[in-house]
Amino acid sequence: MVAITDMTSPYNGAAAALASANTIVIKIGSSLLVDESTGTVNADRLAGIASDIAMLRDKGQNVVVVSSGAIALGSRALGLTGGVADRRLALEEKQAAAATGQVVLAHAWREALARHDIGAAQILLSPEDTETRRRHLNARATMTTLIERGAVPVVNENDTVATAEIRFGDNDRLAARVAAMISADMLVLLSDVDGLYTGNPRKEGDATHLGEVTKLTDDIMRMAGPANAAYASGGMVTKLEAARIAMDAGCGMIICDGRHDRPVKSLLTGGQNTLFRAEHSPLTARKRWIAGALTPKGSLRVDVGAAIALRQGRSLLPAGAVSGSGNFDRGDLIAVEDANGHVIGHGLSAYSQADTLIIIGHKSGEIEGLLGYRGRAELIHADDLVIREHDATTKS
Ligand code: GLU
Repeated sequence: MVAITDMTSPYNGAAAALASANTIVIKIGSSLLVDESTGTVNADRLAGIASDIAMLRDKGQNVVVVSSGAIALGSRALGLTGGVADRRLALEEKQAAAATGQVVLAHAWREALARHDIGAAQILLSPEDTETRRRHLNARATMTTLIERGAVPVVNENDTVATAEIRFGDNDRLAARVAAMISADMLVLLSDVDGLYTGNPRKEGDATHLGEVTKLTDDIMRMAGPANAAYASGGMVTKLEAARIAMDAGCGMIICDGRHDRPVKSLLTGGQNTLFRAEHSPLTARKRWIAGALTPKGSLRVDVGAAIALRQGRSLLPAGAVSGSGNFDRGDLIAVEDANGHVIGHGLSAYSQADTLIIIGHKSGEIEGLLGYRGRAELIHADDLVIREHDATTKS
């Protein structure tokens, strides 16, 4: 059985999900942004997407862009043969092309967004930036700060320093990791196909379009199988891998046709697409992940007042902690114990163990004086904390 709800018409599921999202990641591929015949930015396409971004922000939604195009733009500029689809460049040539093209790409985004009075901020990420907890927390905090200050982060892979083995290699998965990292509600993949089909629509006349996917079953994964991979430039396989990463993080995903003048607007007004619906909210997914089977690297004991505050959904402040043990770094999972030593929950530490021991028992306002830098006010932020249900063993 294929677990899908094939909506016969208007693709309003995606439109409604997008309209209610707080934070949206939009991924644009090279084939959409770079004019293959000239090797330059397709300015009209970029302008249309920038207008879409301005429209979403006017509605109060936060937008992060994941944009490809660096290699395609830079290869031409460096006189390396091949355009968007050229896979024959050596790794170092691709990296040199990316270094050249990223400047052009960032500039193009800056100009396109500036027309709407929106600032652009370049972020280049490597896989370990999204997978190592400490780097993850830093990148997450930087992007959150940019969003709060009204800028649009424009993200790409840090192609120049990545080696073949540790590259994301495709921006579909990078975009999904970014969406997970910043707890986005929706990831929109602007593509050259308008969604997922049961087969390759360019080869199989009877391939049917799927309006909504709620579970990535084996049947669904097979639809993107190698035989059908050619029908999208990034490949449908990587798009479904992206869907898995996003959905696991509580983020929905939409694949839609990015070749419209205003692709997001067209999506909101009923354009054909495939919606991958997430089962949980991003916060629930994050908390489920924290509550999962990871082994804590240390523990923090809190006083009676703090334990009560934590049960009410508050963050753990340094003033509420009494002692710490283990060997943990910033971003590591640690156990939280009540005054009697019972584990009452798990959370991600905002400080290393060494720094935690210095600030424990102090007011948040004293952190800078004690550590010499201005860190977070909390030892564990409420969003990074899962407190167990109160039971007999933890009653004090
Ligand atoms: N990061 C690469 C670039 O900017 C593109 C990777 C992709 O398109 O998936 O050229």
